[in-house]
Amino acid sequence: MKAVLKWVIGGAAVLAAGAAFLAWQDRPLDPAAVPGLADVPAEWPVARPPKGLAVSVLRTGESAGTLEALVVAGGSWFTPRRPVHSAVLVRHPQGTLLFDTGLGRQVAQQFAVNGVIDREFFGYRAEEPAADQLARHGVAAASLMAIVPSHMHWDHVSGLPDFPDTEVWMQPAEREHAALGHPPAFIQSQFSGVKRWRELSFIAEPYMGFAGRRDVFGDGSVVLVPLAGHTAGHVGLFVHLPSGRRYFFTGDVTWTLEGLQRAADRPWITRKAVKLDHDNADNRRAIVQIHRLMQRHPQLTVVPAHDEHVARTLPRFPAVQE
Ligand SMILES: [Zn+2]
Repeated sequence: MKAVLKWVIGGAAVLAAGAAFLAWQDRPLDPAAVPGLADVPAEWPVARPPKGLAVSVLRTGESAGTLEALVVAGGSWFTPRRPVHSAVLVRHPQGTLLFDTGLGRQVAQQFAVNGVIDREFFGYRAEEPAADQLARHGVAAASLMAIVPSHMHWDHVSGLPDFPDTEVWMQPAEREHAALGHPPAFIQSQFSGVKRWRELSFIAEPYMGFAGRRDVFGDGSVVLVPLAGHTAGHVGLFVHLPSGRRYFFTGDVTWTLEGLQRAADRPWITRKAVKLDHDNADNRRAIVQIHRLMQRHPQLTVVPAHDEHVARTLPRFPAVQE
């Protein structure tokens, strides 16, 4: 009996030590330990959003489901999460942009290059592809001005072949990173057929704490910013609407809003299981920078690409927010 008690106490001690280790690994990021952070201005740069500027989210699928503790450091082991795969439509009188594509028409063939473990780990349930949703509501694929993927991971560019004649804006660093990449993160067939690449570059002027900006229409309403870290050329998108609403689409800097609210990285256990970030230090800087932006500008609607709770609050295509 004494021996059994010893094992029980020993097992409990090991569990407690493991839990304490995970809690320590997954503590929020300390801004004081993150070099290179920039001040966040109190005022927004001048923007003149034109009448007709609107955003809308096209939901294209969801992941097979997981636990919150596996998608955000400090998350609950008892809260199920079901990350979404979406595209964001930005309609501007001068042109329509798609930020990310979500899962496209060929996602099943594309995904089949993965091994059995990755197919399990990154399992998804596809819904209607963005190109089909747009076509069903009279928006021809060829009418888009450009597609701007936040980055070239498989679940963000799966729909590129569905828009064969559309320009794709990309930083050279991201294209090089993706060209050398392999599944599950990068799937060459998704982007090897792109006919019209356009080099995305930034003016080296700080924008709300970020190192550069690309003012897409010259009126300050739609602004891309560099957010490298998760991948070599990851980008974020600000949209300032005529109503005064401001959105910041942050791609995969974190998978959930909680990650940005708490300044929490992806969980240690997930980062150990899969190589997730190109440069973890850079991505952590992006997390803390966005966290500080949210503290300074609480009215800003921040949208991590996969956060299903945030997605539910956004206008879902064909509905728009102006
Ligand atoms: Zn990603």
